[in-house]
Amino acid sequence: MELAEKLEILAGAARYDVSCSSSGSARSNRAGGLGNSVAGGICHSFAADGRCISLLKILMTNACEYDCAYCANRRSNDTPRASLTPRELVELTMGFYLRNYIEGLFLSSGVVGGPDASMERMITVVRSLRLDHGFNGYIHLKAIPGADRRLLAEAGLFADRMSINIELPSRQSLARLAPDKDPRAIFGPMRYLADESGNARELLANGQTAAGGLRQVAPATPAKAAKARFMPAGQSTQVMVGASPESDLDFIRLASRLYTGFALKRVYYSAYVPVNADLRLPSLGAASPLAREHRLYQADWLLRFYGFAADEILDEASPFLDLELDPKAAWALRHAQDFPVEVQRARLDALLRVPGIGPQSARRILQARRSATLREADLSKLGVVMKRARPFVRCPDSPRLPIPGLAQLRRLLADPVRGRQPDPRQMELFG
Ligand code: SF4
Repeated sequence: MELAEKLEILAGAARYDVSCSSSGSARSNRAGGLGNSVAGGICHSFAADGRCISLLKILMTNACEYDCAYCANRRSNDTPRASLTPRELVELTMGFYLRNYIEGLFLSSGVVGGPDASMERMITVVRSLRLDHGFNGYIHLKAIPGADRRLLAEAGLFADRMSINIELPSRQSLARLAPDKDPRAIFGPMRYLADESGNARELLANGQTAAGGLRQVAPATPAKAAKARFMPAGQSTQVMVGASPESDLDFIRLASRLYTGFALKRVYYSAYVPVNADLRLPSLGAASPLAREHRLYQADWLLRFYGFAADEILDEASPFLDLELDPKAAWALRHAQDFPVEVQRARLDALLRVPGIGPQSARRILQARRSATLREADLSKLGVVMKRARPFVRCPDSPRLPIPGLAQLRRLLADPVRGRQPDPRQMELFG
């Protein structure tokens, strides 16, 4: 098979794995090296549908011994297969980088010869890029569930970010839809990566930096220095929304545990799009739950930046997110008794719960009110979206209007999701 044909199959196959945001790792070029990686996202850009596209996102192979019900590459599918050798992948990456087509690599693979052999082939690629070619661009490496710790340890020294996709948020769904994957093979490596990453951060905080960069990752390198740059952009994962019966509450509880217990940088939510006719899954014609995906991202944002706990956002009585309201607005309507908040006196956590006030505007309010009494006009200047916030805040000049009813507030805060449908032919998920 020609290289171009392989590339078409393998890059096309990897295109819609969404766990690939490349921000979070900064590293400057050095003499003899090539490229930079810059925290804040210069290594990535996003397509119109919000998905990351600037990395060479590719599989080493789309052959796979596993038979995950939702995946186009499962072993039981009759689909064209292709594989790249480590050398071909290194040459492709370097060629694309030098032509300025890409700023980094996102590398994944089907499972061939077991998790360790698959992982070893990927490590051969990233090791060669870093050590033989001085490649200093961003690398996101998927970890194969069940791969040996020794391999994870080595991979983490070359990759900026690693991820192991959970895909299914419960043991039962995993057993039903991905019978070859054991939860221990997913969460064990995730635990190991979290611990190693934590150790590395501690070493960095103590001044144990790997001076000289990646070339220091040689056998002679002091173990502490090598560890100090272990997987600097942390780890992420992806879960699939709508292929299994779990509720939104299940998803955000899981995400909360991953952020607190495994120090994950990001959980990506991917709306399920049917690609296989399989009685265990929603039918091929089923609509992709993009609105749910969007709301889950918003709820995730509340967990990470607004101080919400999962069980504040949803509860057992109503375990699904409102598709007409963003989760923060929905929370505010359920807690009308907590409003309005006095802008001049409210604590940061109370301000953060007001619709229309974000983390940045909340902090600006705290700063500005030290030296002035804030009026409604000041809030707009501080970035507050007054159209949404007005019924929920009180300033000295706030008009004494009757408190709007819930139906009126619901209309005011309505935020229906208008999603774009991904191309189902491209929607594939990988180990
Ligand atoms: S999801 Fe990954 S492990 Fe499962 S069949 Fe697809 S490529 Fe193989």
